Amino acid sequence: MFDFIIVGQGIAGSLLAWFLHQAGKSFLVMDDSAAISPSRITSGIVNPVTGRRLVKTWLADELLTFADSTYAAIEKELNTPLYEPLKIVRLFDSVKSQNDWSVRCSSDEYSPYLDNNTVVHLNPKTINNPFGGFEIKGASRLHTSLFLEKLKNYLRSNQQFTEGKFAYAELEVTDSSVSYKGVKARHIIFAEGTQALQNPYFSNLPFQPAKGECLLVHIPDFPHSFMIKSEVTILPFYEKDIYYVGATHDAFFENPFPSEKGKSELLQGLQAVLKCTFKVLDHWAAVRPAVKGRRPLIGTHPQFKNVSIFNGLGTKGVSLAPFFANHFTQHLLHGTPLMPEVDIKRFLS
Ligand SMILES: Cc1cc2nc3c(=O)[nH]c(=O)nc-3n(C[C@H](O)[C@H](O)[C@H](O)COP(=O)(O)OP(=O)(O)OC[C@H]3O[C@@H](n4cnc5c(N)ncnc54)[C@H](O)[C@@H]3O)c2cc1C
Repeated sequence: MFDFIIVGQGIAGSLLAWFLHQAGKSFLVMDDSAAISPSRITSGIVNPVTGRRLVKTWLADELLTFADSTYAAIEKELNTPLYEPLKIVRLFDSVKSQNDWSVRCSSDEYSPYLDNNTVVHLNPKTINNPFGGFEIKGASRLHTSLFLEKLKNYLRSNQQFTEGKFAYAELEVTDSSVSYKGVKARHIIFAEGTQALQNPYFSNLPFQPAKGECLLVHIPDFPHSFMIKSEVTILPFYEKDIYYVGATHDAFFENPFPSEKGKSELLQGLQAVLKCTFKVLDHWAAVRPAVKGRRPLIGTHPQFKNVSIFNGLGTKGVSLAPFFANHFTQHLLHGTPLMPEVDIKRFLS
C-alpha cells in the first residue's frame, strides 16, 4: 500500500511529489502524458512584479526565495540545469507609465525588484521603445517541459510513476484507504489542473479557467538575451534565434485549441514592438486552472478525509507550486494549519 496516489504530473503534482519524496513517503504519480497542458507550454517565468499597475506578486518575497531553493535542489538531484535568473526589461507605453514606475521605485516594498529610477533604452533599430523601459530584478525561469520530462523519468526509475488517464468512476474510497484499479493507498491527492472540473469530488469549486496562447518564432538578427515585456512577452527560448511570444488571457473561450483570434492578438503585439522580420514556427494553447479570487485551491474533502486537492495555481504555477506544495505536505504529514486564503474550506464545508 502506498501512502499517497497523486493524479496529475503538471507543475502542481510534480512539486507535491518532490516534497513527499523528500519526506520519505511512498507514492504513485498517475498522469495521462497529454501532449499539451499549461505546464508543458508555460514560459516558466517567476516574476515578482506584474500587471499593468506593476503590482508585487502576492507573497512574492516568500515565494521567490522558496522557488529558488527548491528548484536548485531539484536541479541538483536530477543533475540537469533547469532554473536560471532572468533579466526582464519592461517597456513603458506612455509618460504616465514612467511616472507610475517612479512612484513604485520609491517604495521600500518594491526596492528589491525595481531599480533605482534608471530608464533602460533598447536599440531602436530592432525594438520600438520610444519611452524606454525599466528592469525588473529577482526574476527567474524554469525550463518547464524539460523539468517535467526529467522528473517523470526520475519518478519512473523509482517505480513512483505510471502513465494513463485516471477514471474517476474506478476510484473506491473507504474511511482508511483508497483503491484504484488494484492500486491501494492511504490517501489520494488530485492535481489534475482544469480536468478537476470533471472530478466528482471537487467539480463544485469555483474554477474560472483561462485559456492562454503563445507562439514560437524565429527572429534572426535580434541579439537580445533577456526577456522583453510590452503588450506581449518576448523570451529567448533555449535555441539560437528562437523566441517564445506570449501569452493571451481569455476567460471566454469556446475550445482549448490554438485560435486565429489568439494568434492575431499575439502577432499584433509583436509587430507593435519588433522592427525586424520574424517567422512563426509553432502556436500552442492550453487552459490555466484559474480560480475566482485568484488563490490556490488546497485541502481535503470535507466528507472524505483521504481525498485531497492541490490546484488553482492559475497564471503563476511556477512561482506558487514550490511554496504551497511544501505548505500542503507539512499540513498532510504534521497537521500544520493551511493558510485560510488557500484552504478549500473557504468554499466547501
Ligand atoms: C500560455 C501560458 C503561459 C504561462 N506562463 C506562465 C509563466 O510564465 N509562469 C507561471 O508561473 N505560470 C505560467 N502559466 C500558468 C501555469 O502554466 C499554470 O499555473 C500551471 O501549469 C498549472 O499547473 P497544474 O499542474 O496545476 O496543471 P496542469 O498543467 O494542467 O497539469 C495537470 C496534469 O494532470 C494531467 N491530467 C489531467 N487529468 C488527468 C487524468 N484524469 N488522468 C491522468 N492525468 C491527468 C494533465 O495531463 C497534466 O499533466 C502559463 C500558462 C499558459 C497557458
